[in-house]
Amino acid sequence: NLSDKLDNALHVLKGHGQITEVNVAETLKEVRRALVDADVNYKIAKDFTNVVKEKALGQDVLSALKPGQLMVKLVKDELTQLMGGEAAGINLSGDPSVILMSGLQGSGKTTFSGKLASFLKNKKTKKPLLVACDVYRPAAINQLHVVGEQVGVEVFSDEGNQDPVAISKAAIAHAKQNGHNVVIIDTAGRLAVDEAMMTEISNIHAAIEPQETLFVVDSMTGQDAVNTAKAFNDRLDFDGVILTKLDGDTRGGAAISIKSVVNKPIKFIGTGEKMDAIDVFYPSRMADRILGMGDVVSLVERAQEQYDEEEARKLQKKIAKNAFGFDDFLKQLQQIKKMGSMKDLLGMIPGAGKMLKDVDIDDDAFKGIEAIIHSMTPEERSTPKVINSSRKKRIAKGSGTSVQEVNQLLKQFNQMGKMMKMMQGGGGRQMMNMMKG
Ligand code: GDP
Ligand code: MG
Repeated sequence: NLSDKLDNALHVLKGHGQITEVNVAETLKEVRRALVDADVNYKIAKDFTNVVKEKALGQDVLSALKPGQLMVKLVKDELTQLMGGEAAGINLSGDPSVILMSGLQGSGKTTFSGKLASFLKNKKTKKPLLVACDVYRPAAINQLHVVGEQVGVEVFSDEGNQDPVAISKAAIAHAKQNGHNVVIIDTAGRLAVDEAMMTEISNIHAAIEPQETLFVVDSMTGQDAVNTAKAFNDRLDFDGVILTKLDGDTRGGAAISIKSVVNKPIKFIGTGEKMDAIDVFYPSRMADRILGMGDVVSLVERAQEQYDEEEARKLQKKIAKNAFGFDDFLKQLQQIKKMGSMKDLLGMIPGAGKMLKDVDIDDDAFKGIEAIIHSMTPEERSTPKVINSSRKKRIAKGSGTSVQEVNQLLKQFNQMGKMMKMMQGGGGRQMMNMMKG
């Protein structure tokens, strides 16, 4: 894992009081090795570390007050530049705007089509239409219909019609007639780059002249991802890259190599199978992630999107007054669930990703807890102290759990109460302020 390796490489520098020229060279060698291990092309990695080294010496890192921090910043800034600097938007100027998906089979085109449709639909001013042009497998058309239903977006298909150009044109006409201002065309891929697929996608591209042609690539395929990107780019001259499957064991290396080799911006990333697992690609955040600092900004944004400020304030008061009960606990659980899969979320916290790699956090684990709380009376929820052994038995029975599980929850709840009180003191407030930025 690239983050781990860079973590180790930068460990020498972080918090290290001294830094020498040998030290800089050694560390950058480690950084280079880490990048190569993560499928970054050797030459790109070498150029990268050379640039950083020059800048480091130019900025007189050696005599800086905190040389380690300055080095980390240089590496981060340079990585950010390497991945495009700024976030690249997508062109939605057409009427309708036509977005064409390309990529190998299994790269995540159909899934991403659904995610993008949902993402744009949430912008309120957009009314997307999904178009099924993977004409060889009836299952593929069906898959897009399922996806469309999930996100509440209409799907245009013409089963039996084997001509994706004709289907695309009919879909665009349909979009015009029905007020769709975005048309997302999902196409067929193959297991490897071949002439038939390239001809087909080129033909669609030439016939409909999309505003955006996006190349979808599985970030877990490593160096192959780069070769595939190059092959598609040579034939299709696409406008942007979608990097999927960046959940799991993140291969940040693909982002760096692809950008360097085809010189096209990465526009979005896919971070899970669910329809909301889509994020705009921000080079600086990706650099943070690669450097193992955690994607704190994304985390905070996502949390803020879902988190009701008013609730938060009420909660804080309750904690302060020691009046935090199981009803509040239940609300908290629901908040957490709304924020997406726990593992996704925790993975963005610096350092936590590593810890969580082998742990399986199951969202279903919440269900037992919820059942137990639902089986409590209002009094028991607000004043857990009253829960004696006969009440425990009743609660266990009512929730289909065991007294042991009820005990465990009560114990956890007590511990949490103590922790929250501690957080109210010095450390907690500091942390909250940091998160607010
Ligand atoms: P297509 O053949 O290019 O249309 O690929 P699909 O959209 O059918 O995706 C292939 C598989 O990858 C499916 O099982 C998807 O659920 C999965 N998938 C797609 N995007 C992601 C992602 O961002 N993360 C994860 N974990 N799985 C993904
Ligand atoms: Mg598909």
